[in-house]
Amino acid sequence: MKKILLTGVAGFIGSHLADQLVKTGAQVIGVDNLLTGNKNNLSQLQDRANFEFIQADVSNTPYHYLGQEISFDLILHLASPASPPRYQEHPVATYLVNSIGTHQLLQYLLATNPQGRFVFTSTSEVYGDPEKHPQSEDYWGNVNPNGLRSCYDEAKRLGETICGVHARDFELDVRIVRIFNTYGPRLDPDDGRVISNFVKQALAKQPLTIYGDGQQTRSYCYIDDLVSGILAVAQTQGLAGQTINLGNPDEYTILETASIIKKVCQQQGLLINDQLVYQDLPADDPSRRQPDITKARQLLNWQPQISFEQGVKKTLAWFKNNS
Ligand code: UDP
Repeated sequence: MKKILLTGVAGFIGSHLADQLVKTGAQVIGVDNLLTGNKNNLSQLQDRANFEFIQADVSNTPYHYLGQEISFDLILHLASPASPPRYQEHPVATYLVNSIGTHQLLQYLLATNPQGRFVFTSTSEVYGDPEKHPQSEDYWGNVNPNGLRSCYDEAKRLGETICGVHARDFELDVRIVRIFNTYGPRLDPDDGRVISNFVKQALAKQPLTIYGDGQQTRSYCYIDDLVSGILAVAQTQGLAGQTINLGNPDEYTILETASIIKKVCQQQGLLINDQLVYQDLPADDPSRRQPDITKARQLLNWQPQISFEQGVKKTLAWFKNNS
């Protein structure tokens, strides 16, 4: 892969992906409008000759922000607000970047390099509040089309539709990854996600906030594992038209999540507040979520390597210095 366009480059996942791609020697152009991304996530790349950052909104056509026509070997489309509080704060930007933004990028690839490859980062949220457990790629989901989360999950579903049209009708090499909950260094401390909230609260000796009864489940993938999965999807031959779940199948209730984070803090010698504060469950909060990663195992020979406790330890170390 020589020339790569990476949207959402200043985000949590985008910046880690950029680090790995730049290391391979690829020419990487990273785009981000910094709505929820943070330029500090790119400080380690600023002097790299094979990396360029462009601040732009990828809901517009790339003809606008690239300044010249470029033939990309690979386009990775990650740009989007991604945490529930953030996408609900920016609902229009969220549905535009995942729908029209995806369309613009695919049309650009079609016009400039129809042999190029496209990876769309979709989400476990396309499964909504799932009636099937664990979730495999052939499950169509249980999504509220007009609720607080729809600006994100329905937009990702439309993004997938747009990818499917370009794969079938225009014969582009399009791949979709459905990303499950991911955490690690550079997770925005203020984006309101469960791991960032709990780690931040633990470090501040505040009680951890449990929404609802804490019996809902999530499955957390450490960022390095996720990045190696996305790279495998982008680099493996013969995956045109495939949709692949990426996540860690180890499933925890929110109460278990809280106690593991507290345990790791105590192992690190941190004094923490042992209280929990119960708050209302947000609307349409999925009750269970666990990826079936059989397909990723078979097609990519990929599976997560880092346990939740190991990952929390690394995340805690980063949050100590950065939040
Ligand atoms: N949650 C919680 N306390 C928090 C933040 C989140 O109990 O401080 C719960 C939230 O209700 C959800 C789960 O943790 O059930 C994961 O929430 P997150 O916002 O990380 O992402 P989601 O998986 O819902 O997209």
